[in-house]
Amino acid sequence: LPEVPDYLSLEQFMYIASKPSDKDVLCSGLSDTKFRNLKEMKVFTDNLASSIAPLLDVKKNWSGTLATGKPGHGEFDRSVVLYSENSVYTLPIQLAVHRLLGVVAPTSTAMTAKEVVHQLKLSEAKIIITSKKYLPNVLEAIKITGHSRSKVFLTDEVSHDGFVTVKELASRGSLMPRAPVVVLKPGEAKERVAFLSQSSGTSGLPKGIKISHFNVIANILQINVLYPEETLKVNLALLPLYHIYGLVVVLYASMHAGSQLVVLPEFNYELLLQTTEKFKLTTLFVVPPILVRLLNDLKSEHPIAEKYNLTSIERFMTGAAPFSKEQTEALFATPWAKRHNFVLVQAYGATEMSPMGCTQRGDSILSGASGYVCPGAVVRVVDPETLKDVEDPETTQGELWYKGPNVVLGYVDNAKGVRGAVAPGFLTPDGYYRTGDEVLFKKDKHGEYQVVVVDRLKELIKTKGFQVAPAELEGVILSHPAVADCCVIGIPDERAGELPRAYIKLSPNATREGVEQSVYDFVKKEKARYKWLDGGVVIIDEIPKSPSGKILRRFLRDKARAEYAKQ
Ligand code: AMP
Repeated sequence: LPEVPDYLSLEQFMYIASKPSDKDVLCSGLSDTKFRNLKEMKVFTDNLASSIAPLLDVKKNWSGTLATGKPGHGEFDRSVVLYSENSVYTLPIQLAVHRLLGVVAPTSTAMTAKEVVHQLKLSEAKIIITSKKYLPNVLEAIKITGHSRSKVFLTDEVSHDGFVTVKELASRGSLMPRAPVVVLKPGEAKERVAFLSQSSGTSGLPKGIKISHFNVIANILQINVLYPEETLKVNLALLPLYHIYGLVVVLYASMHAGSQLVVLPEFNYELLLQTTEKFKLTTLFVVPPILVRLLNDLKSEHPIAEKYNLTSIERFMTGAAPFSKEQTEALFATPWAKRHNFVLVQAYGATEMSPMGCTQRGDSILSGASGYVCPGAVVRVVDPETLKDVEDPETTQGELWYKGPNVVLGYVDNAKGVRGAVAPGFLTPDGYYRTGDEVLFKKDKHGEYQVVVVDRLKELIKTKGFQVAPAELEGVILSHPAVADCCVIGIPDERAGELPRAYIKLSPNATREGVEQSVYDFVKKEKARYKWLDGGVVIIDEIPKSPSGKILRRFLRDKARAEYAKQ
């Protein structure tokens, strides 16, 4: 790994180190909006920063937000919640905030108004950037948090209901005093939070993860080393850019490599195919459910994919959840795949690894594996019971422990001991991230070791690539009057990977009839769409527990898996 600069902000790094693109750097797949080159985007970033500076209370000799926070103050004195579908402005907005040493809190558009309230409080947001589509949730949320309407801006092209757009902010900024230029001290980029991402971790409520400028720069360079061929390509930015995979691997790494990015706001299968044909996309960043959609289409009698010229595709890159050897082979067995010349690269990561931990290279595909550990990182494969390294990770699986420049700073509220909780899905005091994933190592055709993710120790459920924390849903379900006890697990699902299912024990006086639907609706009212109990609500007599009272989640999960395998 080349030396990772620890004296540059992410914004400075991007504008200094990115390869110039030979096409428009960023363009919308749906409209004419575009940034033709880095210079144009830099002018926009600068103008936007000038306009945002007073809103974030940036004065001449400002210092921005350090990871440690300031005693007596909140942790984030300058943060911006970004709660919008993908747009060409996503990247310059983030760079403008970083230019001011502020923190961006990318926020899932699936969140309900109540969840947005939590996010605004957690990130101590000063301003909120949203879109017309998600504005109603923001307006509901700010009634509770007390943010003024004048602190809400839109990513849309035209203003709406008196709300100013980011584009208008940038044009106002061109007439305002320039925001001061940042000079970081050596080492400072390691301390400063660039992003505050949400992750469920292993237990409890979603937590805020602090990702430094250095972490993201390190991961961009790691990706760059592993994908040397990925320069000057035409890439699809369809995955949600509020998720760390879309954010760093798609947005930042592509821009760094000089590739053009074509942005689509949200997933739509046919639009994806049309866009691929229109822009001659070369790299499609996807998650397993999109590949499953493609596979099912290709297996159908009249595949929609056959209507389009998709010969430009050189590479699919999948991550965020497993894509198995069987699924890979099924895809390559289709007549369509046989007529197209592409590779399917699987990567593995987590928000805590900013996010890429391992990846295959285009020339070293091992079906179902997740590839090489990123350069500059070290790993251990640890027996989760004894916490000792397993003797032979080729034959004995163990938990992957991961240490490297891309391992994040920690969690919000470290003081409350989250970091000290040494358990799967947490950071250890000596800097390893305990991934909570069980792996094996397998040799590929080059004789090099690749990581194969075989199981998950932590409680996290992954549905369509998004995280669901069982404890978060259990907290809601337990407040339902008919429920005495409950346990949420992920059950296998072909399309989504996993779906959340609740096992409930009824309260003594509860009537059984209609309770499943009622519990389903109860969660639906409170939580984001992907957290709904689409894996079902099942009544059982007793929630299995260990003698110490810990839910035996794995017992129910294995039972559900066995039922699924029988189907
Ligand atoms: P997130 O922080 O949302 O990226 O979630 C991280 C978790 O997603 C990891 O700890 C894994 O459990 C899972 N994950 C990500 N990529 C893969 C993959 N290629 N194969 C299996 N699991 C994955």
